[in-house]
Amino acid sequence: MRVEIIPCLEDNYSYLIIDGKTNSACVVDPGESSPIINYLKNKDINLKYILNTHHHYDHIGGNKDLKKKFRSKVVGYKRDKNRIPEMDILLEDGQLWKAENFIAKIFHVPGHTSNHICFHFFRDKFVFTGDTLFSLGCGRIFEGTNQEMFNSLRKIKSLPKETKIYCGHEYTLNNSKFCIAHDPNNLYLKNRIENIKQLIKNGLPTIPSTIKDELDCNIFLRLDDLESFTKLRDLKDNF
Ligand code: ZN
Ligand code: FE
Repeated sequence: MRVEIIPCLEDNYSYLIIDGKTNSACVVDPGESSPIINYLKNKDINLKYILNTHHHYDHIGGNKDLKKKFRSKVVGYKRDKNRIPEMDILLEDGQLWKAENFIAKIFHVPGHTSNHICFHFFRDKFVFTGDTLFSLGCGRIFEGTNQEMFNSLRKIKSLPKETKIYCGHEYTLNNSKFCIAHDPNNLYLKNRIENIKQLIKNGLPTIPSTIKDELDCNIFLRLDDLESFTKLRDLKDNF
């Protein structure tokens, strides 16, 4: 199982999970269809499933085209079936989603939206976090409460440390500025920032990071109480 990172729109990432044994693939959060179609062109890969973390347009914009072109099935959280158009497979919190060789545990992680989910491919040790956890940051709270977001991040940070994190946007460099401002003596973070700058200079994604990286460097995961989290989330909104 391998993951291809496909940049979409301004700063979104969509991901292809490709099973080399069967040539089947899933796409996660296709914000638009053309970069996915371009990637798949002249490759013998069948796009079987479209996985959506939440209903925002920059995560589902490509659903319709891709479904039509590849006859893929749209997979999402059942409570979002009215907001994610043409959903075929309805998921529940805590469920194992299995199809062909794909297997993921579904986590409901409210906060950014009320029906946001993460897909944890535990066998492959990767998690797709959408706009809940970013590298060195977390999503804005649009529909939920600080408490909900705090709990959602707690769920994610308890995953095995080596788990790779594939998130919805390339916000890492900007996020790092906020982290270092509030955690100026963190050596892990300082090293990470050097690394991030190098990647960006070379036109490469800063994704994936790992749970360990984020526990070491992401100020939003380093806080253990709701009050400090709320304070920092407010500050970040105006950063
Ligand atoms: Zn979003
Ligand atoms: Fe987004």
